[in-house]
Amino acid sequence: MTAARSAPHTWLHLPANHPFGIAHLPYGAFAPPGDPRTRVGVRIGDAVLDLVGAAVQLDPRLVPLIEGDNLDRLLAAGPETWAATRAAVAGWLTDGEARPIVEAHLFELAAVRLELPFTVADYVDFYSSEHHARNLGRILRPGQEELPPNWLHLPVGYHGRAGTVVVSGTDVTRPSGQRRTADGEVVFGPTTRLDIEAEVGYVVGVPSPLGSPVPLGAFADHVFGICLVNDWSARDIQGWEYQPLGPFLGKSFATSVSAWVTPLAALDAAWVAPPPRDPRPLPYLDDADAAPTGLDLRLKVRLNGHSVARPPFAQMYWTGAQQLAHLTVNGASLRTGDLFASGTVSGPEPGERGSFIELSWNGAEPITLPDGQVRTFLEDGDEVVITATAPAPDGAVIGLGEVRGRIVPAH
Ligand code: CA
Repeated sequence: MTAARSAPHTWLHLPANHPFGIAHLPYGAFAPPGDPRTRVGVRIGDAVLDLVGAAVQLDPRLVPLIEGDNLDRLLAAGPETWAATRAAVAGWLTDGEARPIVEAHLFELAAVRLELPFTVADYVDFYSSEHHARNLGRILRPGQEELPPNWLHLPVGYHGRAGTVVVSGTDVTRPSGQRRTADGEVVFGPTTRLDIEAEVGYVVGVPSPLGSPVPLGAFADHVFGICLVNDWSARDIQGWEYQPLGPFLGKSFATSVSAWVTPLAALDAAWVAPPPRDPRPLPYLDDADAAPTGLDLRLKVRLNGHSVARPPFAQMYWTGAQQLAHLTVNGASLRTGDLFASGTVSGPEPGERGSFIELSWNGAEPITLPDGQVRTFLEDGDEVVITATAPAPDGAVIGLGEVRGRIVPAH
């Protein structure tokens, strides 16, 4: 979280405001056309740089740290290697002498196959938007306290299913399960209330030993970067199964992540103070005197090409650093590839809600798209795309990798 610096000039002919310009340089895993081997790539503009291919010729010392079919080795290597790798790539893209070699390892984005960028170790999902939590309280527990009694004291979360985290672009099969009808009958079948949750995910690089909590100030020693997350949710399955142990099959059928991981180093200009907390959190969560760990990300949710919500991430009550401190405070260890997600991002305005249970107020207020389609929850064939922007140095804006998914009928 150093001071924002001016981005160097690249020899690539990119518009100054390109969301994947030299100030961004997110990482992913890809296979070039005609080659099944997946390798680490860096996105620049609308191209993908084969990182190992370029490093073999330009900086062989990096090769052992970035070879393999995804980001796992780079994630484990830690902040010094992350910074050195990023500096090397930025150098290659600005140094005219490196240009012929780099160009030989650039592939058109549209021509490559994008894969899951890292092996997901453990997956944790939080519930850290106060606006989302209050909306759900109003919808599900009308007339009662909007927030559960613990909510303002700790980042509520649960452990999810790492093995069903899928990369953006993967179709999502409508899940089937038990639900209870309005008449009280228990039936089995495809969910009738399939929803999204627009979230931001944090990708852990450096592990921690069992028994050693990770304090607030160590966030950047462990977390490599962020991605976008769609935590698909079957509200009817969830609503019947979740008491007393929380989300289970209503969530675990699929969680989509963006193909690109934006390193924290690209977010120097995006840190903001989170909203004031009342009551003051316990010391292990108290960030009042720390550098700000909120992020000024502006999310956008599109359904079938139409914008339906613009959730503001800067308003999240609990930050990623607090979530990490909380999920390890009992001594639980971190593993390389751990993914923890923010929880649905919702702002105070109706157009800022990151789920359809909120946008349609549990189905009571259907939304009409500009082309006349009406929705409460998702129908087969619907496609949801979540994007986000973040401030970059010099007033520029970067765009996080999108997370896209289309609903296909239940088996
Ligand atoms: Ca969620």
